[in-house]
Amino acid sequence: MLSTQFEIDNNMSNRRNFIKNLGALSLLLGTAKLDLNAQNSKKSRATKVNKPIVLSTWDFGIEANKGAWEVLNNNGTALDAVEKGVRIVEADPNERSVGYGGRPDRDGIVTLDACIMDDKANIGSVASLENIKHPISVARKVMEDTPHVMLVGDGALQFALEKGFKKENLLTDISEKEWKEWLKDTNYKLPINIENHDTIGMIALDAHGNLSGACTTSGMAYKMHGRVGDSPIIGAGLYVDNEIGAVTATGHGEEVIRIAGSHLVVELMRQGYSPENACKEAVNRIIKLTQSRKKDLKNIQVGFIAINKQGEYGSYCIHPGFNFAVYDQTGNRLINGKSITK
Ligand code: ASP
Repeated sequence: MLSTQFEIDNNMSNRRNFIKNLGALSLLLGTAKLDLNAQNSKKSRATKVNKPIVLSTWDFGIEANKGAWEVLNNNGTALDAVEKGVRIVEADPNERSVGYGGRPDRDGIVTLDACIMDDKANIGSVASLENIKHPISVARKVMEDTPHVMLVGDGALQFALEKGFKKENLLTDISEKEWKEWLKDTNYKLPINIENHDTIGMIALDAHGNLSGACTTSGMAYKMHGRVGDSPIIGAGLYVDNEIGAVTATGHGEEVIRIAGSHLVVELMRQGYSPENACKEAVNRIIKLTQSRKKDLKNIQVGFIAINKQGEYGSYCIHPGFNFAVYDQTGNRLINGKSITK
């Protein structure tokens, strides 16, 4: 079909516009390419991987890191390092929120929660485990020797005994005495405050470039019997993705579970967030939900720590007071977590 003059002109001007746009586009692409190159070069400057490195929550993390570092510094695996590191805190009766010596539930029973995750997405976990000093090692056995990922209560204890763990009384005199005092003062009422808990969460990147994590706790002091927090829940208290990073949490387990916290932080890092900003975004999400549920933020504390595949690390918490320990080639040190409230 013959075209009219108008159509011809119109087509030509369309073509001219097309060519003009093409020019602009290629200019744009060129710039984009430049940006990408700049980014890549920035990246390659930043990609001297900081390994090995281990991070753990709270000031007991300093001692725990020392144990982990012995493994990491000898070319050991992140998995062995995190298990060894947190066992130090589990065994210490003076640490009153983890393992032996941990504060009991409101019935006076010490119940422990723990989980572990390696670089191949193997996972193991125990919850509400009684009378076993090292729940993290039971969790590792669940991971390595069963087709399951989580055992709880009596079943977890039965499994631990089958695996040769010793049954021990975990309630120390001081913990028992304090619990009896607490009973007098509170009349068995559930505690809600930001003081009565703390968990050791540990994440490590080994010399081979692999990530693992462990998390272990006696949970919230004077909790209801049977209450399980975030710490043994893969995705909440701990998550590891060997392509991206590793994250662990401490604080109000209920709030961490509500946002699947550690998994969320890993996914934010996957989207390009730095470890610190990923933690901050997750903390902000908890704050938003607390406010929309009309709960009191002042009673809620949550802290996250994160490392990425490059060995960069970061942390964020709701209120000031949370700290974490970092051990890398520059030494072992305690760092205050940045907080949203000041
Ligand atoms: N996250 C632990 C729990 O809720 C307690 C803590 O870390 O403070 O059981």
